[in-house]
Amino acid sequence: MFLEDLSTWQSQGLGNLAKAVGWLDSSHEYSMGHVSVDFFEKLVALLKNPWSPVVTAGRHRCSFCLFTGGPSDLSYAGDTVILGSSILIVPTNEALFVAPSMIAHYVDAHKYSPPTMFVQAVLNCPEMRSISYLRMIRAHGVEKRISGK
Ligand SMILES: [Zn+2]
Repeated sequence: MFLEDLSTWQSQGLGNLAKAVGWLDSSHEYSMGHVSVDFFEKLVALLKNPWSPVVTAGRHRCSFCLFTGGPSDLSYAGDTVILGSSILIVPTNEALFVAPSMIAHYVDAHKYSPPTMFVQAVLNCPEMRSISYLRMIRAHGVEKRISGK
């Protein structure tokens, strides 16, 4: 699935303010450049056990890794992230950013440089599943849904 960075996330359950980040595809250009180690470290920490009201079906493959579809996990600074089967929701007061877990691999292996507002949001994001994190999510009207609905 390809989505333009910062385009509106159309899928169910996340309201109108949700924006897609990092839904890359090898047939589309994407922004490359430097990202800070602080950003990458925080991104990996958030992706360890990401909270999500949306159930994603199947494995999301990396289309830049021609034959393998990319790795199925990534380890950094003692944290391990499972790639390809979950999404990461990063709240700010203005928006919710929705990224695939594969974003960590895109940054690490394919020099992807996400939009500045997303990088800022990740750096400022409260700890995953903390009260402040869930409160920020809830401020956008998102509640955990029963799967299948
Ligand atoms: Zn790859």
